[in-house]
Amino acid sequence: MQIAVFMRVKMMRIRRYLRGSGRVLAFVFIASIVWLLLDMAALRVSINDVNSLLLKEQVIRERQLFKQQNRVTQLVKGGFKHPVQRMELAHTLAGLGPLNASNKLAHVYRHGGKKQEQILEARRRNSLLHKGDKPKARASEVKEEVPVNRVTPKDIEPAMKKAVNLDLNGPNVEESRIHEGLNKVAGSNKTKLQPDAEEIKQAPLPTSKKEPMKNEEVVKVPHVKEDSKKTLQDESEGETPAKVIQHEEEEEEGADHSEVKFKPLHKDVEEEEMKLKAEDKEVETVAKSDPEAVKEAPEVQAKKDSKNEAKVVKEPGLHRVLSLDVTNAPRDENAVGQYGHAANVASSEDFEVKKRWDEGHFNVYLSDKIPVDRAIPDTRPRKCVMDLVHDDLPSTSVIFCFVDEVWSTLLRSVHSVLNRSPPHLLKEIILVDDFSTKEYLGENLDKYMSQFPKVRIIRLKERQGLIRARLAGAAVAKGEVLTFLDSHVECNVGWLEPLLERIYLDRKKVPCPVIEVVSDKDMSYMFVDNFQRGIFKWPLVFGWKPVPKEYIKKNNMTVADPIRCPVMAGGLFSIDKKYFYELGAYDPGLDVWGGENMEISFKIWMCGGEIEIIPCSRVGHIFRGKNPYKFPKDRQKTVERNLARVAEVWLDEYKDLFYSHGYQHLLNKNFIDIGNLTEQIELRKKLKCKSFKWYLDNVYPDMVAPLTKADGLVFNLGLRKCLSLQNNSLLFEICDLAKQSQHFNYSWTRQIRHQGQCIAPPLRPQGYTLQPCDNSRSELVWIHRYSRTSLWQHLMSKSFSQRLCLEAGLKGETLIINTCDPSNSYQQWEFTHYNTNGVD
Ligand code: UDP
Ligand code: MN
Repeated sequence: MQIAVFMRVKMMRIRRYLRGSGRVLAFVFIASIVWLLLDMAALRVSINDVNSLLLKEQVIRERQLFKQQNRVTQLVKGGFKHPVQRMELAHTLAGLGPLNASNKLAHVYRHGGKKQEQILEARRRNSLLHKGDKPKARASEVKEEVPVNRVTPKDIEPAMKKAVNLDLNGPNVEESRIHEGLNKVAGSNKTKLQPDAEEIKQAPLPTSKKEPMKNEEVVKVPHVKEDSKKTLQDESEGETPAKVIQHEEEEEEGADHSEVKFKPLHKDVEEEEMKLKAEDKEVETVAKSDPEAVKEAPEVQAKKDSKNEAKVVKEPGLHRVLSLDVTNAPRDENAVGQYGHAANVASSEDFEVKKRWDEGHFNVYLSDKIPVDRAIPDTRPRKCVMDLVHDDLPSTSVIFCFVDEVWSTLLRSVHSVLNRSPPHLLKEIILVDDFSTKEYLGENLDKYMSQFPKVRIIRLKERQGLIRARLAGAAVAKGEVLTFLDSHVECNVGWLEPLLERIYLDRKKVPCPVIEVVSDKDMSYMFVDNFQRGIFKWPLVFGWKPVPKEYIKKNNMTVADPIRCPVMAGGLFSIDKKYFYELGAYDPGLDVWGGENMEISFKIWMCGGEIEIIPCSRVGHIFRGKNPYKFPKDRQKTVERNLARVAEVWLDEYKDLFYSHGYQHLLNKNFIDIGNLTEQIELRKKLKCKSFKWYLDNVYPDMVAPLTKADGLVFNLGLRKCLSLQNNSLLFEICDLAKQSQHFNYSWTRQIRHQGQCIAPPLRPQGYTLQPCDNSRSELVWIHRYSRTSLWQHLMSKSFSQRLCLEAGLKGETLIINTCDPSNSYQQWEFTHYNTNGVD
C-alpha cells in the first residue's frame, strides 16, 4: 500500500514536472516557430526589395528598348521625307498635331541656309528622324547605380606651371594659370564632379568681344537682315570640295532607294532581335551549367537587371558596357531640348535666332536655352547594351580643340564626356584653345572648368589651326589613348568603352564613333542610319556611302559590328597615343583646316593600321554649313594647299586624278607653294607603308580609279592606221595590240604618253616633238573628247591661241599640227579604251 502511495506520489510529481517542462517546451517550440516566421517574413521582404528593384530596372530597360524599337519601326515606315514633311512627322509624333502653313514657313525660314539643308538632307537621306524616348527613366536608373564622383587623388593632375613649348613646328601653348590655381583648390579636398542642375542651367551665357549682348538689339537691327541674307548667300556659294559632305547612295543599286535604305534597316532590327534571343538562350544555358562563373565587376552588378541576373558576364576580366549617364540631376523634364527633342522657337524669337546665327552657323540662340547636361536618346543598336568589354581598358585623354566655339555647345560637349564616360577611363579632358578671340572663352571658361579637376585648358599663343592644335593637345596628353572630338558634340551613353575596346584588342585599330546629327536648326539629336562608312571621291572630297549590301550579307554583318572605313570624317576618333606618334602624328605642315582627315586616313591604312566605325559608340555633332571662324589666309587656298600636300605624299601615280578634277592650277608651282615634303616622304619610306594602289584594292575596292582617261592604241580615222613610237620618232602602222610600241596612255592631265615620253607640239606649228612627260608643263596637254563639240575626236593643243590639232599625213608619212578642221578625218583619233564617261 505504502509502495502504491509512494508510486502515486512519484507519478504525480513526474506528471507535474512534465507538465511544467511541457510548458517550457511548448513555449520554446512556439517561440521558435514565431522566430522562424519572423525570419521568413524578413527574408521575404528583403527578397521582394531586391526583386522589385531589379524588376523595376528590367521593366524600365525593356520599356526603353521597346520604345526605341517602336520608334525605329515607326520612322522606318515613315520612309524618306522632305525636311518639312519630316518636321511635320516629328511634330505630330510629339503629340503636337499637324503643323499649320505658317509654322512650316517659319520653320524653313528659321532654319535658313539651303546649302546646309542640302547637306543635312543628303546626310539624313538614310537617317531616321528621331523623336526621342523618355530617357528620364534611364537617367534615374543609372544614377543610383553608378559610382558618382569616383575621382581618386591620381585623377587630379598637378597643374602645369610654365608655358609649354611643344616644338611642334610652332605652337606655343600655355596652360591656363587661373585654371591651375583653381584646380589646386578643387583637388585639395573632396572633388565635386558635377555642379547641380540649377548651377548648370544657370551657367553664364557670356557675350563675345565683338558683339556685346547689351547693345545688340539697338545696334544690330538694321544689320540683321543683311547678315542673315549673307548667311544664305554664303551657304549657297561653292564649297571647297573637301568641305562638302556628300552622302552617297549606293550607285549600283536600283532606282527604289526607299527600298534600299529603309527595309534592310527594319529587317536588321528584326534579325538582331532574333539573334539576341538566341544569344540570350546560349548565355542562359552556360550560366546554368556553371553557376560559379557568374562573377562580376561591381560596376556590372550595378547595371544588370533581374532577368539577366543569372546569365550575364561569365568570363572574368570582362564586364558589360557601362551605360553611364551621370549628372547631378534631377534633369528638368520640361527644359528646352531635353532628351534631344527638337526645340522650336516661337516665331516672335526668329529675330534673335537670326541675330545670333553667325556666331556658330547654327541656332546659337536656341542652344543657349538648352541645358548643357541635357539627356539624349540612347540610339545604339540594342545588342550594344549586352556587349562585353575588358575590365582593364586603357585610359584616354579627350582632346577638344576649339576656336571661338559657342559657349553652350562647348560646355555641352564637355559635360557629355564627363557624364557619360566611366571615370576610371577618362584620364583628362584637354581643351585646346586655338587662340580664340571671344572674351568668354578666357577667364569665364577657366572659372567654369575649374570645378572639374579632370579638365585642363591649353592656350595656344597664336592661331595654329585644328591640325597643330590637336598636336599640341596630344603632346601634353597623359592618357594611353587619345580621343579627339569637335567642340560641338554630344557623346551618347556608352560611347567610350566600345572605342577603347577596339584599341585594347589591337593597338593599330583607329575606332571612330558613329557621328549622329545634332540639328543646326532645332538642336534635336538625330539617329543616323547604320552601315555607313566614310569614303572619298575625287578630288579628295569626303562623303558617306553605305556598305555594299553584298558585303553585309557575305560577312554576316549585324548593325552592331565595326565597319571598315576607308576615310574617317575627321574630328572624332580614338587612337593609341604611341601608335599616333609612330605614325608621325599629323603632317604639321597642314594649315588651319581641311585635308587632315585624308592624310591620317591614308597613313593609317597604308602603314599597317585600320580605321573602323563602331556602331555601339555614338556621338552627335552639329554639322555647320560654313566654318564660323576666320581663316588667317584665304580659305580656298589653305584647303587646296593641304590637299596637294596629301596628294603628293600619299597618292603615288593616282595624284593625277586629284589634280585633274579641278586642281590643275596647283600643278603650276608658280601658283602655289605647298611647302617642304621631305620629312613626310621620308616618314612614309621609314614606315614601309604600302602603295596607294594597295589601299584602293584592299580598303576601298568599290572605288573606280582608272589611272588614265584613255589608253591602248591610238587609231587615226582618216588613215585607218595606228600611232607607233619607235627609235624616238612617231610613225603609223597597221594596228596591232600585241605591239608595245603602239600603246599610249591619255593621262588624267591630258598628256599623250608612251613610257615617260610625251607628244608635244613643235615651237612653230609644224611637225611634232617628243618631250619627257611632266604634269606641270601645260604645253604637253592635248584636249580630246573634252565636250560634245565638233572637235570631239580631235587632239587639240592647248599651247596656242588659235585652235591647232594633231593631223596624220595623207599617206601616213608625217604627223603634223594643223589648224583644226572638224570635218578632217585625218585629225580624228580614237583610243582603244576610254575609262571615263567621256564628257568632262
Ligand atoms: N578648330 C580649331 N582651329 C581652327 C579650326 C577649327 O581649333 O583653326 C576646331 C573647331 O573649333 C572644331 C574642330 O576644330 O572644334 C573641327 O572644326 P570644324 O567643326 O569647323 O570642322 P567640321 O566639323 O566642319 O569638319
Ligand atoms: Mn565640327
